[in-house]
Amino acid sequence: MKVSKVTLVLMLFFANVMFHEVAHGLGIKSTINGKGFVRETLQEQYSWLEEGKADILGLYMVSSLLKKGELEGDIKDYYTTFMAGILRSVRFGAGQAHGKANMLCFNFFQKNGAFERTAAGRYKVNYLKFEQAMNDLSRKILTLQGNGDKAAVEKIQKEMAHVPDELQSDLDRLIKKGIPVDVMFEQGLSVLGLE
Ligand SMILES: [Zn+2]
Repeated sequence: MKVSKVTLVLMLFFANVMFHEVAHGLGIKSTINGKGFVRETLQEQYSWLEEGKADILGLYMVSSLLKKGELEGDIKDYYTTFMAGILRSVRFGAGQAHGKANMLCFNFFQKNGAFERTAAGRYKVNYLKFEQAMNDLSRKILTLQGNGDKAAVEKIQKEMAHVPDELQSDLDRLIKKGIPVDVMFEQGLSVLGLE
């Protein structure tokens, strides 16, 4: 099937988002050491880590299904779209669960060489290291959930779930260039001329 670049990006983005939601439905619900449900054990630390789980496990599923031939496309495109998705959604802020999860992934990936920032301030995925980083982060989050280790989750949140200065200055450049964070559609009966 031959599709335009815009259609391709939308398909990749859709797959990543869809499998994010699928990943929420799977995974560890109860701790493996008798502490009870992960949600109850991690308390206020639960939501943001669960968003991080869905992000990274969703991507893990995409890459696994691709290897099995159940999905079409090039894994490099899915990885690049995932990275672009992090840079897009952090512009909505890093205070809430999704934003914190994004920043955990960003900082973890940077530390593990899954992407590089060029001298020109551009972000480039390292396809060789990306898969390993994805697997390692998946393992880390699932282990935290399985152990219901709230203190460890708090520590990770403090250390890694924030916007680093360098990224913040790159995000500021987008604002200066007038690139909108979101698109607002004019909708409603009056727009359609039905009022
Ligand atoms: Zn989610």
